[in-house]
Amino acid sequence: DPFYRQLPKVELHAHLNGSISVTTMEELISRKPHLNIQHSMTAIRKGQRRTLDECFQVFKVIHQLTDTEEDILMVAKAVIREFAADGVKYLELRSTPREETHTGLTKRRYVEMVIEAIRQCEQEDLDITVRFLVAVDRRNGPEAAMETVKLAEDFMVSSDGVVVGLDLSGDPTVGHGKDLLPALQKAKNTGLRLALHLSEVQSQKEESELLLGLPPDRIGHGTFLHPEVGGSKSLVDKVRERNIPLELCLTSNVKGQTVASYDKHHFSYWYQLGHPCVLCTDDKGVFSTELSQEYHLAASTFGLSQEAVWALSERAINCSFAPDHLKAQLHQRWASLRPQVF
Ligand code: 5GP
Repeated sequence: DPFYRQLPKVELHAHLNGSISVTTMEELISRKPHLNIQHSMTAIRKGQRRTLDECFQVFKVIHQLTDTEEDILMVAKAVIREFAADGVKYLELRSTPREETHTGLTKRRYVEMVIEAIRQCEQEDLDITVRFLVAVDRRNGPEAAMETVKLAEDFMVSSDGVVVGLDLSGDPTVGHGKDLLPALQKAKNTGLRLALHLSEVQSQKEESELLLGLPPDRIGHGTFLHPEVGGSKSLVDKVRERNIPLELCLTSNVKGQTVASYDKHHFSYWYQLGHPCVLCTDDKGVFSTELSQEYHLAASTFGLSQEAVWALSERAINCSFAPDHLKAQLHQRWASLRPQVF
């Protein structure tokens, strides 16, 4: 359906290494034949499912394929072009700076490569604005988190507004959010906006510390926050009082088996409350999806009219970490592209 591709969209939750398309993946695989990686190991096709744990194994495979500066530059440019081709007008890309001792890749160079990709894409005739969220992988513990925060702070100053925030991601069953609070607090105090994966799996028991202690500017997934799945009412109230937007990824959650089926996705709970929620892809490569497909899926599952879909995509602008003048510019774009009749 061309409506969903033409619909101007905002993508706020996309992990770089999870967003690599089939074509780019094939290129990476052919560059490194000695690794003996097949494409079936890096993507979950239609109808297939994996446990969340298996999904994290997939990222380990992909990381072997993107372990040089050139790889990071190449995949970042490709991912930005693909989002632009899917009608995404504003993208907040996130990625975990990685050190690879065998290739000499450093965390600093990693961030520089992503920023360079964004700059190079600005020179092309793409209809997309891109910002970068530096990601903390919780698996690496508090010290690495603090190191990444300092790096993000440096780039927030030096990148001319490209680095706007910090993401907390990685295997939610590893570590405790409380231990990362000092690093997250520091990031927030220096002006980085926080997009945290929260309540992605049941009984994480760190939601209250992170929600009350910070709070974050946006929540990724929040799958087990709401009372119908055993979450606490007081936390839902907190999220509502503070109007903290949720980044919701339908295909990712169903394929990763944290949500039983599309119709049971917590999108409906928050959407019916009128709470700010933003449809996102999470990992368009790994989960074989596109943002236009996510909008189509939400519309067909929850019976949204085209007008409601339009409003949903426009409301996402306000949930972004873009400065006010850019938000205003994006609203103007939406107004100029809006169909006369739906
Ligand atoms: P990268 O940060 O290397 O560009 O993208 C892949 C990384 O993003 C993974 O290693 C993981 O830390 C994070 N990630 C991707 N998808 C998910 C997800 O669904 N949940 C969580 N918690 N982390 C994810």
